[in-house]
Amino acid sequence: MNTTHSPTIAAIATASGRGGVGVIRLSGKDLLPFVQRITGGKIPKPRTALYTDFLDAHGKTIDNGLLLYFAAPASFTGEDVIELQGHGGQIVLQMLLQRCLELGARIAEAGEFTKRAFLNNKIDLAQAESVADLIDASSQQAARMAIRSLKGEFSNQIHQLVEDLITLRMLVEATLDFPEEDIDFLQSADAKGKLRALQNQLAHILTNAQQGAILREGMTVVLVGAPNVGKSSLLNALAGDDVAIVTDIAGTTRDTVREQITLDGIPIHMIDTAGLRQTNDIVEKIGIERSEKAVQNADIALILIDPDNGVNETTREILFRLPENLKRIEIQNKIDLRNEQPERVDNLSGSLKSGADTLIKLSAKTGAGLDLLKQALLAQIGWQGESEGLFLARTRHLNALETAQFELNLAADCGHHQIELLAEHLRLAQMACSEITGEFTADDLLGVIFSRFCIGK
Ligand code: GDP
Ligand code: ZN
Repeated sequence: MNTTHSPTIAAIATASGRGGVGVIRLSGKDLLPFVQRITGGKIPKPRTALYTDFLDAHGKTIDNGLLLYFAAPASFTGEDVIELQGHGGQIVLQMLLQRCLELGARIAEAGEFTKRAFLNNKIDLAQAESVADLIDASSQQAARMAIRSLKGEFSNQIHQLVEDLITLRMLVEATLDFPEEDIDFLQSADAKGKLRALQNQLAHILTNAQQGAILREGMTVVLVGAPNVGKSSLLNALAGDDVAIVTDIAGTTRDTVREQITLDGIPIHMIDTAGLRQTNDIVEKIGIERSEKAVQNADIALILIDPDNGVNETTREILFRLPENLKRIEIQNKIDLRNEQPERVDNLSGSLKSGADTLIKLSAKTGAGLDLLKQALLAQIGWQGESEGLFLARTRHLNALETAQFELNLAADCGHHQIELLAEHLRLAQMACSEITGEFTADDLLGVIFSRFCIGK
């Protein structure tokens, strides 16, 4: 792509707050004159650290540190890239950024560096997305998957798929040009077999992407039950030594209603409905509204029941407000007090007072029966328990792969005399796959993808 019109962009690339080092990153065309004005004439060698003062317009030192220079096209964005590594204080970084703006840079938009890398063919779209995924990763597994995608593993598999699709399309389209040979030719070239192989290849990628999406999205679990039935204890027991990554959910202050734990590396968002009460506190209200919305989109409800007391009034009310199709598991906690054994009973078809299909008896205190609950939770979202080779797929990727699968199935259904139709389905399958890596992608989609990045990336 033509970069003549891309202005120099600048951003603080390190997290806001105090830190030992703070980095300002710039990308643009011909940044050497720019560098000289900041360093007072010193010229850096590409890919070598230059220790220097960073100067203001009057030649006064704003800060000192390391300057890194990556000459185009051997840089992240494919343009000249400069990193100013100064001290990590917000004021000094702002002053340095201000100086860059004076020298003609403008503030980078969210994700703009990565977007330029994509537009300059340094990385494809799936790789660009994995940059954000790596930064946002909420578990070690997610981070590992993201770096593998960033290094191109996911893209390579898609490229292979597209290449094989092209080979098959060439075969099919050749017979369109020479109709007298059609059927024999396709048969001798084993077009059907090649198509089947493609279907298998795609099915494999789709499975790995779907499992990866589970690792990415996790599941939302609603905890329902009267006070003292053991909701908090169960939450802690589940978090166990997997060490609860107790995070605040992006952009909000932590509320007591929601917590996140990981199970087998899968993020589990827990919502304690006991916290969903009336309040006049605005901040709390927002948190509660958000949680109530999350309840509506939850994957599963754990309904804790004290078998001696049954379902009380408040619990009944909450049960009534749960979405009808929400899967329910009834938990009878504290079996240690009743000398009962842990147990899982399935296929109760809603016959319990809680409306659950599955009953699990356990003790949050002793841990007996917890494994039964974990298995039930993981099975519910279709987790197969193997994180090797998975891709941290986004909905966009899953949709594209599903479309491609749909088209390949239609192609396989084409009869001997529907070769034009066959060619068309193969073409559509290829288009869908290529959307993932960004070969056919509308500008507005790019806008959506990159706007979710953080500034400076
Ligand atoms: P919540 O109000 O539903 O969150 O209930 P808590 O988790 O705070 O538990 C209430 C009380 O029950 C606490 O004293 C817990 O120690 C106790 N408790 C929770 N689970 C068990 C269990 O499985 N066995 C026994 N013996 N006590 C439990
Ligand atoms: Zn509690």
